[in-house]
Amino acid sequence: MEVDIIELSDDKARFVLKGVNPAIANGLRKSMLSEVPTMAIDYINIYDNTSVLFDEQLGLRMGLIPLITDLDSYVLPDECDCQGEGCTKCQLTLNLSAEGPIMVYSGDIQSSDPKVGVAEDRIPIVELKERQKLVLEAVAKLGTGRKHVKYQAGVACGYKNMPVFTFSENCDACGKCVEECPREILRIENNEVIVKDPLQCILCKLCVDACDINAITVDEDNSAFIFTAESDGSYPARELIIQSADTIIDKARSLNEILKSIG
Ligand SMILES: [Zn+2]
Repeated sequence: MEVDIIELSDDKARFVLKGVNPAIANGLRKSMLSEVPTMAIDYINIYDNTSVLFDEQLGLRMGLIPLITDLDSYVLPDECDCQGEGCTKCQLTLNLSAEGPIMVYSGDIQSSDPKVGVAEDRIPIVELKERQKLVLEAVAKLGTGRKHVKYQAGVACGYKNMPVFTFSENCDACGKCVEECPREILRIENNEVIVKDPLQCILCKLCVDACDINAITVDEDNSAFIFTAESDGSYPARELIIQSADTIIDKARSLNEILKSIG
């Protein structure tokens, strides 16, 4: 297996994964979306709410605010010693108190744990007018995207096959394929067609259709994939990818142990 990083920032990663089959590539994608444990607000206790939003609407908004996740300090409620009752190892509290006139943002939420706060300060929650108040306590827990979308740290995770261009000897460098390509990745140099940047190819194959003499073919490499992974802020993108791979390893290990116990 080989990994070539194309782009890496806190919230986005692009990389080429080579030497794996489509099942592994898809497993990694699915793991990013639905298996990596992520912290999110699970319920709220409302002490005062005279805003225009119903309590249920507030709960929905609060649940979807990404929280920075710390897997060293917290465990999934199902795996906790308290068996999901709720304790300091599997949950934390956050508080929100505001009085109008003010626009209440996610950054106004105060966490009881400095390591687990909101990932983004400027998410609007509600606008409070004069004399309107909002006082609540929220409880956050770890969960996975499989259970609810609020626990989904990977928000735009996908891949495409690496394109493989082949030009036959018949190619007369007429330039029709170059004109047709919507991503402008082909050009003519020294009377032959050159692929400038294959990573930008979207496999539309308009270049193949444009060629009157069938001199160009575009195939999909089934062992190389161009990945894009974006994080909602719960994890840095790099950490999200590592966690998704670790989750697959853990599941494979559990399966192995089950099979051994049967044998
Ligand atoms: Zn617990």
